[in-house]
Amino acid sequence: MSESTSHSDIRMRGFLNRKSVKEAQDWCDAQSTPLPSDVIPLRDAHRRVLAADVVSPIDVPPFDRSAMDGFALIAEDTFGASDYNNLRFTVVGSSFPGDGFSRTVENGQAIRIMTGAPIPDGANAVIPVEYSNVEQQGKTEQLLICESTSPGKHIGRQGEDILAGQVILEKGRSLRPQDLGVMASVGLNEITVHRKPNVTLLVTGNELVSPGTPLEKHQIYDANSFVLRSLVARDGGELVSQIYVPDDEQKLKSLLQSVDTDVVLLSGGSSVGQEDHGPQLVAKLGELPFHGISMRPSSPAGMGKIGNILVFLLPGNPVSCLCAYDFFAGRAIRQLGSRHPEWPYQRQSFELNSKIASVVGRLDYCRIRIVDGNATPISVGGASILSSTTRANGFTIIPEDSEGLPAGETVDVFLYDEPGQYISPDGTL
Ligand code: AMP
Ligand code: MG
Repeated sequence: MSESTSHSDIRMRGFLNRKSVKEAQDWCDAQSTPLPSDVIPLRDAHRRVLAADVVSPIDVPPFDRSAMDGFALIAEDTFGASDYNNLRFTVVGSSFPGDGFSRTVENGQAIRIMTGAPIPDGANAVIPVEYSNVEQQGKTEQLLICESTSPGKHIGRQGEDILAGQVILEKGRSLRPQDLGVMASVGLNEITVHRKPNVTLLVTGNELVSPGTPLEKHQIYDANSFVLRSLVARDGGELVSQIYVPDDEQKLKSLLQSVDTDVVLLSGGSSVGQEDHGPQLVAKLGELPFHGISMRPSSPAGMGKIGNILVFLLPGNPVSCLCAYDFFAGRAIRQLGSRHPEWPYQRQSFELNSKIASVVGRLDYCRIRIVDGNATPISVGGASILSSTTRANGFTIIPEDSEGLPAGETVDVFLYDEPGQYISPDGTL
């Protein structure tokens, strides 16, 4: 039997039974245990996920330092100072950041000090420059104090920010810019993070050309790879190669046999058409436990494994492709990188201003535009209409057990943008 006529080949026969989104997601979860750790330079750590707690080896600050520009002195020497009883101090030296005063401060002495400079031995308070009055007396400077201060005033104490031995960041954290700053401040220049899942993107379709090239007859521009690249980056994956593959069984087969990334995304050719080689090749080279999901769009999505490589069959229609990635591949990529399985979209409740029809037994991904504070389902919503997702502010999910929702119902909308980050021209959201 040739590859194209084996009895496991469902091309041109249609899906017999579809599996539920939940079953497929459970499979993704079971396959996606976090990848082992990697030591990387701190400078590359933004948004990486910590694989171990970070413990500070030092106190921060590592010494007592001035919080103000002014004069360091012995607080007790200022007791009794007032507008009527100015107390005098002799300025005997200075302390600069990185270049402290090397002697001990004695009673009646003051040291000119800058913010961040070490508090000299003997001193225990800083008088800010704004409250100091300096007089020149011959070669020496005299500081006149008209108000008392207290011990510790305007001093940043050793360890007040971080103590040696303290856990400063916990395992599992996706690192923020300020987290990198805190790790730098304790002297770390390398950290242990989960390895990023690496991803190969195979874009199938004889009709596709890359934007920037003129279209010839019957060609269309490849949109999916741009959507997928962005989504992979968002989910902490590393796209290591993107290859345009013609609708050619042998070519696709040899590529599937040679990939060595954690994940393969196959765009297009996932369905039951004559040119849809992906499903039976994955089944033959590995396993394909899911092909055909009870959802709309994306019902021709599939997923399986070749060796340890997770392979996601993403239908070519661009909304289906986005949706299949978001439901399954993204979920796996996030978890391989030790991130949260759920969508990184914010969820907000809105009232529906027109009904959404669905059928029991199928989950629907329904694009929503927010108009005057209400959720408006986008009516031109076929799987090929990618601009429906750019006109939408987000989407809502009609679960499998629902026949749809009437106008007036409250729905949860998953917002494509962070609330407040996007201002639409009509000011709707
Ligand atoms: P397929 O899943 O390969 O049968 O493709 C379904 C539909 O999606 C067809 O109209 C394709 O031309 C279109 N399509 C496939 N791949 C892409 C892509 N990368 N970008 C835009 N449209 C695509
Ligand atoms: Mg195709």
